[in-house]
Amino acid sequence: MSDSFPFSNFEQQHQWYQDIDNANRNNIFCHCRACGYEWMDSKKEATCVKCGNKDVESISAWQFPDD
Ligand SMILES: [Zn+2]
Repeated sequence: MSDSFPFSNFEQQHQWYQDIDNANRNNIFCHCRACGYEWMDSKKEATCVKCGNKDVESISAWQFPDD
């Protein structure tokens, strides 16, 4: 019954965990105070992807109230 197992080898399984890890990291909400651009990033010390300004407000997505 090996067909029911989603991973044929360790490499695929490792890649799968890597993808989830990347998804978890890319959830920092960033807001540029200079141009007002908003985006999701993977790190808190972000530089605005639009204007290059470093005055960026960053909020972890899991800190948003869920009401
Ligand atoms: Zn900007």
